[in-house]
Amino acid sequence: MKLIFASHNAHKASEIQSILPSWIEIVTLSELNYLDEIPENEPTIEGNSQFKARFVQHKFEQNCFADDTGLEIFALNGRPGVHSARYAGEQRDSNDNMDKVMMELESCSNRSAQFKTVITLFWEGLEYQFEGIVRGNISREKTGSEGFGYDPIFIPEGETRSFAEMTLAEKNNFSHRARAIEKLVAFFNTLPNH
Ligand code: IMP
Repeated sequence: MKLIFASHNAHKASEIQSILPSWIEIVTLSELNYLDEIPENEPTIEGNSQFKARFVQHKFEQNCFADDTGLEIFALNGRPGVHSARYAGEQRDSNDNMDKVMMELESCSNRSAQFKTVITLFWEGLEYQFEGIVRGNISREKTGSEGFGYDPIFIPEGETRSFAEMTLAEKNNFSHRARAIEKLVAFFNTLPNH
């Protein structure tokens, strides 16, 4: 059964497809020839995720889901949060974003933070949300070259390495996105066989 992913990101789509039951077939917006960006103007991660899913549900009237992620830093009152992608400006540059965060935390001893992913699913006319969180700390320097975004400065709880020093498989053992996707998979596994 088709499930539209409210995203153009084929890489994310294939990652999620690989862990969903095989009777679900993820289709991205690009595969539906919808090439516009969906607005992401809501004030929260939950709100953005919900807006994107509702937008696609309204447009295509089919089962669909959307995800939204942000890095929430305790000492910055939850920033960058919903503004994670563009924290240092419209250029969406990860290095600029990390530099801004490290500058703002320069004199802070409390460096605790969390990544949060919220998935909103529309399934057979009902709406569901699944949240995945990983707690950790912001380091004082960038380390590692794997991953993307804020990975080089995020050290998950119980680890000494940043996300960018881990392989994707290692990061997936406890990442925010993996945890949210696990809940989505658990939901599908409770449904009667298709
Ligand atoms: P999105 O909602 O998945 O597009 O994520 C928004 C922004 O959060 C990205 O542009 C990244 O800056 C940041 N981000 C999301 N997921 C991760 C991650 O797994 N590691 C590091 N940064 C991330």
